[in-house]
Amino acid sequence: MIKRSKTRVISVGNVRIGGENPIVIQSMTNTETKDKEKTLTQIISLKNEGAKIVRVSVKDNRDVEVLPYLIEKSGIPLIADIHFDYKLAIESIRKGIAGIRINPGNIKDEKKLIEIIKEAKIKNTAIRIGVNTGSIDRTRYKPDSEGMVYSALDFIKEAEKLGFYNIKVSLKSSDIKNNIEANRLFSQKSNYPLHIGVTEAGPLMISAVRSSIGIGVLLLDGIGDTIRVSVTGDPVNEVKIAKEILISLGLMNGIKWISCPTCGRTSIDVEKITLELMDSFKNFDDINKIITIAVMGCTVNGPGEAKDSDIAVVGGTDYSLIYIKGSIYKKVENFNIFKELKQVIESYFLS
Ligand code: SF4
Repeated sequence: MIKRSKTRVISVGNVRIGGENPIVIQSMTNTETKDKEKTLTQIISLKNEGAKIVRVSVKDNRDVEVLPYLIEKSGIPLIADIHFDYKLAIESIRKGIAGIRINPGNIKDEKKLIEIIKEAKIKNTAIRIGVNTGSIDRTRYKPDSEGMVYSALDFIKEAEKLGFYNIKVSLKSSDIKNNIEANRLFSQKSNYPLHIGVTEAGPLMISAVRSSIGIGVLLLDGIGDTIRVSVTGDPVNEVKIAKEILISLGLMNGIKWISCPTCGRTSIDVEKITLELMDSFKNFDDINKIITIAVMGCTVNGPGEAKDSDIAVVGGTDYSLIYIKGSIYKKVENFNIFKELKQVIESYFLS
C-alpha cells in the first residue's frame, strides 16, 4: 500500500483535490481556444477518456470570450492557462473559470499577483502556481529544485496574507531528477496539494517512459494529488498513459493487463489476444476495483502468474487453460481463446 502524504483539500469547481481524494487526471487541449468548436470537441474527448479537469490556453481576449461557452458545454472543470498578462487571469476568473494556472516566472510584479489573488478569492477560483525551470525568475531564484520550491512558497505566503488558500502547486522540469527532488522538497515544507508531471516529455513512447519514471517515483513516495502526462501530439494519449500509471500502482480502479513477452515456447498468439481484449474492454472505466487479467504463452510462468490474477489464460499446445482466481476454470481450444476469455471476463466481473 502506498501511504499518501497528507495534503490539504482544495476545490477546482466540483473536483476535490488533495487529502484522501482520488488522484485526479488532468490534460490540456492543444487547439486554439478561440476555435470554440474544435476546443470543445477535444475537451469532450479528454473527458470521455477519463480526464477530470482540462486546461485550455488563454493568450488573448478572444480566448477569454469563448470561456463561458466552453464552461457551459463541457460539463467538466476547466483551467485557464495564463502567461505574461495578469488581466487575462482576472477576466477568466470573472467569466467563471474553475481554476487558473499562473506562472510566477512571467507575471513577476507582486501587485499584479495580488490583484489576481483578490479576484480569485471572491469566486473561490483555484490557482495553480506552475513553476517551470524553463521560465523561473532567474533574478530571484536559481533554476534548480530549491529555486522552484522557494518561488512557489513565496507566492503562497502572499496568498495566505490575503486569506486565500485554494492553491495547488506544480514544480516541473524536463530533467526528471530535478523534478523529483523539487517535489520531494516541497512536500517536506508545505501541505498544499501537488500537481505532478514531467514537462516537455516528448512524443508518445518517450513521454510514456519519462512520465512513468518521473510521476511513478513520486507517487510511490506518496507525493502527488493530481497528475498530467505531457505528450507531444494528441492529448488523449496523455490521459491513457496517466490511467495506466495509476492502475499499475494500484492508485486507480480498472483492468490491470499482464502479458508475457513471448518466446520460442509460446504456443498461443499472446499479442493478438491481449490487444483484442484490451480493445474490447477499453470502455470499462467504471469498475470499482482493480481486476488483473493475464495472458501467458506457456506453462513456464503461466500458472504462477495466474495465481496472482483474477482471470488468466495459460497457453498449451492445442488447448489452453483459463484460470479464475488462481484455479483452473476451463480448458479451451486455442482457436477459441479470445471468445472464451471475453465471455469469462464479462460474466464474472463486468456484468
Ligand atoms: S510465459 Fe512461457 S511463452 Fe511467455 S515468455 Fe515466459 S516462457 Fe515464454
